[in-house]
Amino acid sequence: MDYRVAFIEGDGIGPEQSAATREILDKVCRTFNLSLDLIPVQAGDRALERSGEALSEDSIGTIMGSDCCLKGPVGQTAYDVIVRLRRKLDLYANVRPAKSLPNVPCINAQTDLVIVRENTEDLYSGLEAGDDQKATATRMITRRASERIAKFAFELARQRRRKVTAIHKANVMKKTDGLFLSACREVASSYNDVHLSDMLVDAAAMNLVRSPQEFDVVVTTNMFGDILSDEAAQVTGGLGLAASANIGDSFAIFEPVHGCAPDISGKNMANPVSLILSAAMMLDWLARRKNDQNAARAAKVIQQAVEDCLAAKEFTPDLGGHLGTLEMGKAISNRISAEGR
Ligand code: ATP
Repeated sequence: MDYRVAFIEGDGIGPEQSAATREILDKVCRTFNLSLDLIPVQAGDRALERSGEALSEDSIGTIMGSDCCLKGPVGQTAYDVIVRLRRKLDLYANVRPAKSLPNVPCINAQTDLVIVRENTEDLYSGLEAGDDQKATATRMITRRASERIAKFAFELARQRRRKVTAIHKANVMKKTDGLFLSACREVASSYNDVHLSDMLVDAAAMNLVRSPQEFDVVVTTNMFGDILSDEAAQVTGGLGLAASANIGDSFAIFEPVHGCAPDISGKNMANPVSLILSAAMMLDWLARRKNDQNAARAAKVIQQAVEDCLAAKEFTPDLGGHLGTLEMGKAISNRISAEGR
C-alpha cells in the first residue's frame, strides 16, 4: 500500500537521527513491499531562521495532506510546532511506551507498559492569570475528553494484557479528578474483558519505580502524564530509546520523547532508536487503520531488529557503546529481513 508521510527532520540531533531512520524505512519498504513517500516538511528552529516562521501555513498544509507525520526533535520552537499541531489536528492521545530492552541498564527488566496521557486540557490549557503577587491557573477537565482518552486506553489494553490503571488525585481534587475517574469507570463498563484499577498519582510515582512490571496501560490527565512518562522513560533506560505518538481520530504524529540535545548535535553520537521506534509505532498505526499486514510485519521486525542490535551490544555512547548514529542505524537495518521474527 502507498502512504504519504510528512517528515519533519527537526533540529539539533534530528537530522542525524532522521538519516538513520530513513535507512531503516528504505529497508522495510524493499523487504515488505511497502511504499512510503517521505515528504520533507520544514518546521522548528531552522525553519524559523530560514523563513521567519517555526511552522508555516504551507507546512501545516503539507502535513494535513499526508496520511501521518514523522517528526524529529525540535529545539526552542518545540511549543510552536508540536503544541500547535496537537491542537489544530485534535491529537488528544499522547502515547508513550516504556519497555525494558536488552543490555540497557534499567530499574526493572520486566517492564512493558504504555502511558496514555490526555493531550488537550488540564493545567496546560494556558488558562493563567496573575501579577507578581498572586497567580492562578485554571484546571479544566471535561467528561468528553476524559471519556475519549479512557476509551483509547481500553482499546489499547485489548491489544495487550487487558489491564488499565487510571491515575488521579481524586481524594484532593474531587471535582476535576473525580470527573476523570468517573468517566474512566463508566467507559470500563463497556469493556468487561479489561480490568480497571485506579491509583493516586503519588502512589503511582512510587510504584513505577518499585514495581513497574505490574502496569500494562496507564491512563491519566495531561500534567500527571507528562511527569510520569518521563519517569517511565528513565525506569526503562533513558531518553535515547523513548518513542511516542500523538494520536487523534484521523491523524497522528510520531516523535521521540526527548528534545534536540544540542550538547551532542553534529557529533554522530545521538542514539537513533527513539526516532526509529517512533517510525515503528507509525507503521503499526497505519497497519491498524488500513488493515495492512505488510506494515504490521514491518513494525514488528523493526522492534525486533532494535532489540537484537541492543542484545549484541551494538550501540551509541549513551548506552556505553562506540557506534555512531548512522552506524547504529546500519546495524539495525542489517538485521531486517523478510524472515524476521
Ligand atoms: P530540550 O529543552 O529541547 O528538551 P534538553 O537538552 O533540555 O533540550 P534533551 O534534548 O531532551 O533535553 O536532552 C537531555 C539529555 O539527554 C541531554 O544530555 C542529551 O544529550 C541526552 N539525549 C537526548 N536525546 C538523546 C539521544 N537520542 N541520544 C543520546 N543522548 C540523548
